[in-house]
Amino acid sequence: MTTQPLHFMPRQRPRTRLARLGDWMARHRSAIARLQWAIVVLYFVLVAVPAFLPLPPEDARMANNFTRVAQFAFWGIWWPFVIASMLLVGRFWCGVMCPEGALTEFVGRPGKGRAIPRWMRWPGWPLVGFLGTTLYGQLISVYEYPGPVLVILGGSTVAAIAVGIVYGRGKRVWCRYLCPVTGVFALLARLAPLHFQVDRAAWQAQPAHIPAVDCPPLLNVSTLSSAAQCHSCGRCSGHRGAVALRGRWPGSEIVHSQPGDVGRYEALLLLYGMLGFALGAFQWTMAPGFVQAKQWMATWLVERDIFWPLADNAPWWVLTHYPQVSDVFSWLDGAGIVVWLSGTALLVGGLAHLATAAAARLARTDWKVLALCLVPMAAANLFLGLSMLTLTQLRSEGIIFTWLPEAQLALLALAWGSGMVLALAQLRRAGVSGVRTVGAIALLAAAGAVPALLWIRTLDLFRVW
Ligand code: SF4
Repeated sequence: MTTQPLHFMPRQRPRTRLARLGDWMARHRSAIARLQWAIVVLYFVLVAVPAFLPLPPEDARMANNFTRVAQFAFWGIWWPFVIASMLLVGRFWCGVMCPEGALTEFVGRPGKGRAIPRWMRWPGWPLVGFLGTTLYGQLISVYEYPGPVLVILGGSTVAAIAVGIVYGRGKRVWCRYLCPVTGVFALLARLAPLHFQVDRAAWQAQPAHIPAVDCPPLLNVSTLSSAAQCHSCGRCSGHRGAVALRGRWPGSEIVHSQPGDVGRYEALLLLYGMLGFALGAFQWTMAPGFVQAKQWMATWLVERDIFWPLADNAPWWVLTHYPQVSDVFSWLDGAGIVVWLSGTALLVGGLAHLATAAAARLARTDWKVLALCLVPMAAANLFLGLSMLTLTQLRSEGIIFTWLPEAQLALLALAWGSGMVLALAQLRRAGVSGVRTVGAIALLAAAGAVPALLWIRTLDLFRVW
């Protein structure tokens, strides 16, 4: 195992166990690289191999079908684990395990290293990327079939490699600006109780000529004050005797956020994307209203002799098309999904936006900062939706958890309640008066309650009472 030199300087603060763990990461880059390459191989096996196998028969099980294993590993374990890991340990996934991050960085080392164009730095890409991939994934049924997995995730990986070759210079330009989930991860990581912290006084006490640290997502480590963009790769741990992995109260970064710490597109991603659009994507297949609206529309079209929207002649990479298992989407289905997801985003996100803006006005604070208090609810939204896939797959294997409705309700209550605790702490810290605080929290509580109630209705969680 190789070790790499660090610019360890006389230490101003004792190295805790956590700090020593960060230092270990900085010294053992080769061990982390080996882990990353192992995950790259696993990723390619799970993404690519099933796309070239026949579709599994209806009675296929994980014990006898690799595609089922890959689906469960990818959607049942991999993605829920990634979301949960963001909440627990920040973006360690990005810095230590993500195959796309490893690839874009690796191919960029001998790459062209062109200047990053201005258009690529546009802060709205994470929002566009998240909405676009979520919608496209629903249109081509990415959770059900291996071909769409290859198109979406493989396409994203190819794009990450291309960006790495052209602009990378060994840095993670793709991850910083264009990855479709970087905005989501940046929001979730603010809740994490672990982060790399810079001791400014210790930093400034060291000579200026010490070489800069190699930060893959191009951060100015000396001013690092947020876990949002830090990939927790550990490379800067111990640098100038000033950087250390440390613990903090979960959500404390949100409580201490100031105007300017969160951008407009980031707040819109939170409200319209993670709370609204994602909810629509997870729930449309279970929504009776979707089927009724579609039937009404089909009848309306037929009565007027308009038949082309009912055709199911789109290729599988445009709309789901698997006639061998009687699963084909018509153009009307596709349009219905677009409208349903957009409508849910506008309804849930729009209400949350209105409520947050009104709360911020009442409390005379920044609405984007206040909106961060809804991150726990957005996290629960994503986790519940992804874990539904896990549970559906387990159910088809005959594994059923009887305690599940209570656990889902508890998760929603915890997310809603912790969001309100964050809001209370944020407003008290800002010195907002009692009456204004109560009003602002009531508005935020309503914003968080809408997605929670939609989950309760969809999952029929009231059955447990
Ligand atoms: S600041 Fe940069 S180098 Fe340090 S842990 Fe975060 S991503 Fe890695």
